[in-house]
Amino acid sequence: MLDGTTAEIRERKALRVNPAKTCQPIGAMYASLGIRGCMPHSHGSQGCCAYHRSHLTRHYKEPVVATTSSFTEGASVFGGLANLQTSLDNIFSIYDPEMVAVHTTCLSEVIGDDIPMIIKKATDGGKVPEGKVVIHANTPSFQGSHVTGYANMVTAFVNYMAESSGETKNTVNIFPGWVDPSDMREIKRLAEWIGIDFILAPDTSDVLDTPQTGEYMMYPDAGTTIDELKAMGDSFLTIGLGPLSVTDAAEKLEKKCKVPGKVMDLPIGLKATDAFVDALRLAAEKEVPEDLKKERGRLIDMISDMSQYTYDKKVALFGDPDHVVAMTQFVVDLGMIPAIAITGTPGKAFERRIKEICKDVNPDVEARAFSDIHFLHQWIKNHPVDLLIGNTYGKFVAKEENLPFVRFGFPIMDRVGHRAFPLLGYTGAMRTLEKITDAFFDKRDREDPDHEVELIL
Ligand code: SF4
Repeated sequence: MLDGTTAEIRERKALRVNPAKTCQPIGAMYASLGIRGCMPHSHGSQGCCAYHRSHLTRHYKEPVVATTSSFTEGASVFGGLANLQTSLDNIFSIYDPEMVAVHTTCLSEVIGDDIPMIIKKATDGGKVPEGKVVIHANTPSFQGSHVTGYANMVTAFVNYMAESSGETKNTVNIFPGWVDPSDMREIKRLAEWIGIDFILAPDTSDVLDTPQTGEYMMYPDAGTTIDELKAMGDSFLTIGLGPLSVTDAAEKLEKKCKVPGKVMDLPIGLKATDAFVDALRLAAEKEVPEDLKKERGRLIDMISDMSQYTYDKKVALFGDPDHVVAMTQFVVDLGMIPAIAITGTPGKAFERRIKEICKDVNPDVEARAFSDIHFLHQWIKNHPVDLLIGNTYGKFVAKEENLPFVRFGFPIMDRVGHRAFPLLGYTGAMRTLEKITDAFFDKRDREDPDHEVELIL
């Protein structure tokens, strides 16, 4: 499929081919689904909403519900005030959510709709029932990416909902970056294991990986509650996981309610999970439980057992900044050499972090933000690597270059494991290592002559 890709790289400023990112509203929609009883609302045309819902459904294999302002030519000319007011009226009377989380699209942003003003008008006009909430985030797709859309909606939770009663509670807020429901469950497992009271916001576990009961629930009995969102202002600490996804929200909460924030990398791999567990331990003022130490020990054992296969292997990585940064550190810890790391999301901080992580193992690492998979492919043609790590879109590059490929990040549309098995924490790191070594072994089993195929590795 990509056999026409040449090795000749031409610098492109205004063109992205096979971009390693998608629309901001997708992230806002995903974050909203992590709030109990929340209806995500797309303020724009139907096409945007349909695409965003289907993209999430393809990754999570669950129906994703969201409403739309259904712009037509009239709204494009005269603005979307009437559409949003009618939408809110319909949403509350038909679907009865506790909260509507409005996000904008390119069109409503270009028109310049003033969403807070529209929400106020709707509220004053009696279109928002007593006790129900409407919040919003600006998510134009001509800026940022799905990750910044997620970040903007998490910040909206703070802006609209967090309250300070003046009494600090013995609770920690945990803002997960964009991770899968299975990963959110793993974050909760670690926090519960350490023994700390926490509020996880958002929380998509049991929302986008619901058990099959034979009964459809538009609002699953899961997710962060509105009361928990309000109570975030009384916690004594916020731990943010994933700098791009949650720094803004943590800083807003500190400013608004004086809750100090600590932002760290997503707990992917050994070092980042150690840092998260340590932050939980310090906050809880407790010892790390023996069983958790054993889990860590099993990871270290697996790393040392497999080091003969991972050592010195060159890796190409692409995906979202928070994911790729943490994974780059993990592959360095495995003795591998990151050769190139790219993201489609703009922001030079990504390039600085990758270079800092790789400074001792590969100071010449190719680190690029606001880049694309086409460039990654061309670069690999000039600088062959041993492994490719990235989302589903990487499979075509892997096929063309005959590379072992590990699926990681968002979206993964052609496998199901990410729904059930976390990649965060020590167990997640073991799974990642298993996937990496399996990819190497599978290639060898496929390609080695019969007399060299090993039964035991
Ligand atoms: S790029 Fe803009 S117009 Fe296109 S689907 Fe995304 S939000 Fe909608």
